[in-house]
Amino acid sequence: MTPDAMTDLVRDWQTRLGLDTWAITIEYGTVEDGDGECEAEWEYNKATVRFDMDQIEDGDHLAFVVHELLHCVTRPLEACADGLAGKDPRLLEWTRQSTEKVVSDLERLLLRFTVRPVSPPSH
Ligand SMILES: [Zn+2]
Repeated sequence: MTPDAMTDLVRDWQTRLGLDTWAITIEYGTVEDGDGECEAEWEYNKATVRFDMDQIEDGDHLAFVVHELLHCVTRPLEACADGLAGKDPRLLEWTRQSTEKVVSDLERLLLRFTVRPVSPPSH
């Protein structure tokens, strides 16, 4: 996928996720800890999402876009938990892992409704 197509995907999902009032900057390049990241200044409805297009495999681009944008949605809760954790590395890691779990679950949930038909229960 080209960066222009990725940008179109981000803008489309920015609206779908109710982030259309946010100022979201999109950057492409190396990402320190993975293939995508989001730095959200939630109190100002402002964020930067960054993607390493060389690392994202074909067919995974939409999941990365939805995932990184969902970090904007969950950032206020994460910031609250970070504040309660203070400088305790164990609590900060717990916050990080909990945030990734929630964001990843929401990403999969949203993709179920948008990418492929959901099979009805068999019972
Ligand atoms: Zn994440």
